Amino acid sequence: MDASVTYLLMELRSETDYAQHHIQKVIGFFASMQNFAKALQQKGHQVIYIYLNDKSNLQTFDKNCEALITTNHFTNFEYQLPDEYRLDEHFKSFTSKLKITSNVCDTEHFYSTRNELKDLFAGKKMYLMETFYRYMRKKHQVLLEDGDKPLNGKWNFDEDNRQKLPKAHKPTAPLLFVNDVSEIDKEIRNAGIKTIGTVDSKNFVWPINRAQSLELLDFFVENCLALFGTFQDTMAPNEWSIYHSRLSFSMNTKLLSPKEVVDKAIEAYFKNPDQIEYHQLEGFVRQIIGWREFMRGIYWMKMPEYATLNYFEHAEKLPQWFWTGKTKMNCLKDAIHQSLDYAYAHHIQRLMITGNFALLAGVHPDELDAWYLGIYIDAIEWVEITNTRGMSQFADGGIVGTKPYVSSATYISKMSLYCTGCYYDKAKKTGDKACPFNSLYWNFYDKHEAKLAKNPRIGMMYNVWKKMQPEAKTELLEQAEYYLNHINEL
Ligand SMILES: Cc1cc2nc3c(=O)[nH]c(=O)nc-3n(C[C@H](O)[C@H](O)[C@H](O)COP(=O)(O)OP(=O)(O)OC[C@H]3O[C@@H](n4cnc5c(N)ncnc54)[C@H](O)[C@@H]3O)c2cc1C
Ligand code: SF4
Repeated sequence: MDASVTYLLMELRSETDYAQHHIQKVIGFFASMQNFAKALQQKGHQVIYIYLNDKSNLQTFDKNCEALITTNHFTNFEYQLPDEYRLDEHFKSFTSKLKITSNVCDTEHFYSTRNELKDLFAGKKMYLMETFYRYMRKKHQVLLEDGDKPLNGKWNFDEDNRQKLPKAHKPTAPLLFVNDVSEIDKEIRNAGIKTIGTVDSKNFVWPINRAQSLELLDFFVENCLALFGTFQDTMAPNEWSIYHSRLSFSMNTKLLSPKEVVDKAIEAYFKNPDQIEYHQLEGFVRQIIGWREFMRGIYWMKMPEYATLNYFEHAEKLPQWFWTGKTKMNCLKDAIHQSLDYAYAHHIQRLMITGNFALLAGVHPDELDAWYLGIYIDAIEWVEITNTRGMSQFADGGIVGTKPYVSSATYISKMSLYCTGCYYDKAKKTGDKACPFNSLYWNFYDKHEAKLAKNPRIGMMYNVWKKMQPEAKTELLEQAEYYLNHINEL
């Protein structure tokens, strides 16, 4: 502890208002900040905490910092490297104008540095996640044998994962906390902040301190890891988390470090090799050491241009029911409702339900970014934009992924229990109650043939499309046009 250091945390309108966030996201951030400030104080550190509605709160970083520097006669300003480009630029500019000295410290909450991916791929045209993942496994000595060989002979066990949930299988109920955050909720509402979604503020289910985050991590390794890989891509109505960890919020807010999450999962595997199969563990480790770090590296390599990319030149508005869940499509209804209720959807719901539909419907990536950045409790731009604009919308033309993630009802029905009982018929491509995904899927390929036909991972689809009878093609395209013209009624 250094008595000459004062920690400063502040709740700001500039942060609550740069996007329209889910109410649970704003509460989750403020509650975690307040608890972190208390933990610092309990350890004897000096802390200044500015609450949202404090009279002295000037509501921007700059104004609050300048005022405090003057009144407290601070002689040096230090900050931790922010995770967002927007804030990075802001602090560079702010500190360049300060009359006192300033310093910046790197964060310890990632395996890689901001520029590590950029350096690894210097001079390369393609940035494969798999290449990066293997490099990370070797560098951090994770699940290796004989020096630099992957444990159990392979780097990737994906083919053992990804099964559909059997109808009779009831996933483990998620661990939900019972936090009373009604005071914070009241403050947010009193301030008139516009938010999305709902909250039960007497029973806030997300972890809001380190102890709860560690409890959720323990719960995951004990109850979910053993089936994580098997069911990581499956979806079922009213099952909002299946065997997913729901640890992204704790990691993104730095209540947990990714290393302690990975270490805990590996420890659980070695303690219980009879209960946890290796492919379940590898699937989980890959998400964190691989995808999470990869996305961050791409973000720092490609911002700020990344935020402007729109490879398909899509221009449509997001359907209105993205904000209400009021659609007859079961898969979208379920994924959106649970997002509004819990500020959470798991990866495949984000990618293959909401993202898939929006891409097929030609929605502008800016609209999508605003939605994903707002609605999810774990949404921070470095990981939101790379997943949304990149992985989900292919708006980066193939920086993050090698092909667009689009599907017809075939994939959704294969991986989920959504289609049974849906108003639409998954087997119908055209006509009354035909599943919209089916015609929109072919319409997407038809429209973007010039950009996609040469992609080796897609070429096969164009062979199918070309072999289709002209009348069948016309019917499909007309059906898609009808749905696109009536998108708010689907
Ligand atoms: C369109 C879209 C938007 C997304 N937006 C965000 C976002 O704003 N914030 C966010 O943290 N993740 C985002 N993701 C990635 C992923 O969906 C979430 O990390 C995951 O659903 C969080 O739930 P979980 O903790 O239960 O994950 P689990 O399924 O339990 O996975 C474990 C951990 O792996 C990491 N992870 C898994 N996949 C990814 C990925 N593709 N990119 C980065 N990390 C990954 C996360 O830290 C996650 O906590 C997005 C994905 C898509 C397709
Ligand atoms: S039939 Fe189509 S709209 Fe309905 S749940 Fe299946 S994929 Fe979704």
